[in-house]
Amino acid sequence: RQAAFRTDLSVLLDQVGTGKESLSFMKRRIRRLAQQWATAANRLDAKLEQRWRDQKKILVHVGFLTEESGDVFSPKVLKGGPLGEMVQWADILTALHVLGHNLKISMSVKELQGFLGVPPGRGSCPLTGPLPFDLIYTDYHGLQQMKQHMGLSLKKHKCHIRVIDTFGTEPAYNHEEYATLHGYRTNWGYWNLNARQYMTMFPHTPDNSFMGFVSEELNETEKRSIQQNKVNNMAVVYGKEASMWKQGKESFLQILHRYMEVHGTVYYETQRPPEVPAFVKNHGLLPQHELQQLLRKAKLFIGFGFPYEGPAPLEAIANGCIFLQPKFHPPHSSLNHEFFRGKPTSREVSSQHPYAEQYIGKPHVMTVDYNNSLEFDSAIREIMRTKVEPYLPYEYTCEGMLERVHAYIQHQVKSGPCQIIGPLFVPLPNSTALGWASNVTAPPAWPPLSSLRLLVSQEGQSCVEACQSAGFICEPAHFRFINNKEALRGLEVQCEVVDSEINHILPAFSVVRQECGLQREPLLFSCAGHSPKYRRLCPCRDFRRGQVALCRDCL
Ligand code: UDP
Repeated sequence: RQAAFRTDLSVLLDQVGTGKESLSFMKRRIRRLAQQWATAANRLDAKLEQRWRDQKKILVHVGFLTEESGDVFSPKVLKGGPLGEMVQWADILTALHVLGHNLKISMSVKELQGFLGVPPGRGSCPLTGPLPFDLIYTDYHGLQQMKQHMGLSLKKHKCHIRVIDTFGTEPAYNHEEYATLHGYRTNWGYWNLNARQYMTMFPHTPDNSFMGFVSEELNETEKRSIQQNKVNNMAVVYGKEASMWKQGKESFLQILHRYMEVHGTVYYETQRPPEVPAFVKNHGLLPQHELQQLLRKAKLFIGFGFPYEGPAPLEAIANGCIFLQPKFHPPHSSLNHEFFRGKPTSREVSSQHPYAEQYIGKPHVMTVDYNNSLEFDSAIREIMRTKVEPYLPYEYTCEGMLERVHAYIQHQVKSGPCQIIGPLFVPLPNSTALGWASNVTAPPAWPPLSSLRLLVSQEGQSCVEACQSAGFICEPAHFRFINNKEALRGLEVQCEVVDSEINHILPAFSVVRQECGLQREPLLFSCAGHSPKYRRLCPCRDFRRGQVALCRDCL
């Protein structure tokens, strides 16, 4: 069946259910953004020009909100607990609904069993028939529950699963045996999925797919009125929980207060939290739409280093604030920071919000060393002098999210299960490094092969960095085209030997030893991998401005 865009969200709102603060939060958000989604749906509909879109049967199982996983989030919705995940799930549900798919939503193991048609009860009871869904979106908690309740059949059906995974999972951590043997084992990873089945909140790990969320969009009239009503010396502090204000924040709060009126939205029960200095005007935790109003007046939104990589800075920038945040020297990662410890990634987080730093940057974002009070002081003064317009990257608009999710659904699952994994090795004709790719007669690839640019990294450099420094992005789906002797030959690499091994650095070569290595385990194709002794072969691709998940010819 053909999927038709939906602009009426009432069925979705009924499906989300009631009885928990987290669900009410999500529904308020869905209602508040309904008009914005409808406009975006109409625009994308026109842009796609009647193109056929399959209607998919989709199950969304929100594992972290189930009672069975302990649901620690719901009770904290009104108390300053994390809301980013709920923002993202609300937007994922809305995008799938608006794209016109046949959607089922489950927030308990019982509902999960009902939808999958497995008998309720304890223990593992394999699903015997075919999977009644084309796609299942869930999270790590949900994956665990499905393993428990679908047993062996999870293996059979795993290509249909997409895991919403805020911070990302790198291939070395995802491959069970490899992770166990080489010290990458964590409590989360090792599901042996294709790394592109993990979908992240920001486009930080090209090995994964970028799912994202949306932020509020403004029309021209609103933009103008915001700019007229900006209060040049008003700052809002990022941090809704008192603990985020602890330890060593006084000194730069004092500097800030020299120039600006400081506002906060810190949750409190009856008394002012002692961590928040008296000169701060604390509004308490605000409903989302009231926070937006506050951001519309403020000139500065200032981060203290935690929470990492949340939605709020994008909302602030969209409402015309400048976001000031600390640079991390050295970068934070699972190797040196408690928060990231045990997460299935070694990604280095260079500031509180690397996306804001790297993809948005000046004049909307300033990333400075907070330990240097002179640098901090001059940043504040520069912010007060600078005029900025509200800005929202296309990929965080409703249309951008719909476009991306549409492309994933139509292309990553094309022609039956497991196409996301695709053929593993593609034979290539003899020709030069850049010439051969266009001659390949392979099954249709997505992203299309026309987007491929083969590059070689420096020693110690990952393919994420190598591609980025040339203005491209690493595309793991293209590894299968460059993992061969023809590619090495085309690059005129001197190889005494060419081995085929299981190592997430490969394909790569050592200049000193004239050793070349190809990848034997396709699950270990990794943009993130790097090693001081090796130069890597990197499959890069072009991307659309403001929509890094998609190449130029990807739609
Ligand atoms: N938020 C809110 N009221 C507040 C402060 C924040 O509703 O007083 C919302 C904000 O709009 C954002 C969400 O909380 O969409 C998540 O914010 P944050 O960036 O702090 O990420 P988290 O750590 O909660 O995942």
